[in-house]
Amino acid sequence: MKDHAALSEEFNIDEPRVNWHDETLWLIRQKRDKAVHGIPEWEWLRETASQVKNNVLSNLSAYLEQFEANALANGVFVHWAADANEHNEIIHSILRKHQVERMVKSKSMLTEECHLNDYLTENGIEVIDSDLGERIVQLGNEHPSHIVLPCIHKKKEEIGDLFHKYLGTAAGESDPQILTEAARQHLRETFLTRKVALTGVNFAVAETGEFVVCTNEGNADMGAHLADVHIASMGIEKIIPERKHLGVFLRLLTRSATGQPITTYSSHFKSPRQGQEMHIVLVDNGRSRQLGRENFRNSLKCIRCGSCMNTCPVYRRSGGHSYHSVISGPIGSILAPNLDMKEFADLPFASTLCGSCSNVCPVKIDIHNQLYKWRQVLVKEGYVSNTKAISMKTMTWVISFPALFAFAGKTGRWAMKNLPFLVNNKLNPWYKAREMPVPPKESFRDWYVKNRGQK
Ligand code: SF4
Repeated sequence: MKDHAALSEEFNIDEPRVNWHDETLWLIRQKRDKAVHGIPEWEWLRETASQVKNNVLSNLSAYLEQFEANALANGVFVHWAADANEHNEIIHSILRKHQVERMVKSKSMLTEECHLNDYLTENGIEVIDSDLGERIVQLGNEHPSHIVLPCIHKKKEEIGDLFHKYLGTAAGESDPQILTEAARQHLRETFLTRKVALTGVNFAVAETGEFVVCTNEGNADMGAHLADVHIASMGIEKIIPERKHLGVFLRLLTRSATGQPITTYSSHFKSPRQGQEMHIVLVDNGRSRQLGRENFRNSLKCIRCGSCMNTCPVYRRSGGHSYHSVISGPIGSILAPNLDMKEFADLPFASTLCGSCSNVCPVKIDIHNQLYKWRQVLVKEGYVSNTKAISMKTMTWVISFPALFAFAGKTGRWAMKNLPFLVNNKLNPWYKAREMPVPPKESFRDWYVKNRGQK
């Protein structure tokens, strides 16, 4: 398995694409800034959302039970899934009960996390993703590279090629309007012929047992309204106590995500329409464990706006797939090691710790602090490479002895000046992407003694 550094190196080969990826996401970040500055109470909203989520995390089980009781009273079937496997089996059993072999799905990062599409395909069920970006990555046999903009890594010409191959558009066609129209026609047929529709959940209200799904394309609504069976997959952290809190979160979500004042469709689902069946699957999959990690429980406040990705200088220049985890970018690098420390030990290091992610986060997650704390946990638990562990230990030893530190500095400056090839060579991974600085003539300590030492 390649790590973040190796995968970023592959993404970086195509420099114009990197620049375009970087600029596009920065444009969205700028739109976010404009939208945020338009409402003076922005910081108050962030603080309120953060406090509401604090309350939720402290009383999670109580709110979930309240939600379950209300949803049952509304006529909804409620299921509990401890992990991804249980989630997939529950969905499969509902499909089997209805003898259905085709399902339409709106965007749900949770089903990506559970690898639902692969599971159902292996069991002979065809899944069509109805979000345009998700459908594009599905046709390309890829996974989303961004939680809000799943195919942001793809250029319109590449999408044109995929549509030519699978949807019959003209060869070389890359006009976004024509491609979107082709997707619309293709999905219309899907909506009309599928008996089961699965949606994600953005917010679930304990007080009423209802849930809200936000999309810009209306695809979740199309799927759910036309299907005989509506299944909603929900991470247990999506709960909020009362309906009035929706006003806070809905105002924060889309401004942070795309700079829009509100999502085009924020649809409330409470009970099945007559003749319809509605199921909700409440999924843990490591969330309780994260709740128990005091330093990282705040990450469960995330409302998946993607803002931390759009602003992150590392994400913008390394692409979402370099994170080799379903949720990429800064927040993904906190969530992934909770699922598997060994596999995702590289991710908390894929950050400059500049703090831009924490500054934009609408629910005030201290993202960069948590990345820093994960680094310490991973080093202590022995999950970093030997090279990194040994060099850190050596450095600790060197800086523990002032005389040794001064000697090492002097030797280093001399070597960089007289034997630069010892440092500036291809074996040094740090040098591969950087220019070495010109060594200073003297150390700061020498300079200080000379200039300030007498005072
Ligand atoms: S961590 Fe914050 S900024 Fe990042 S996706 Fe979650 S809510 Fe948005």
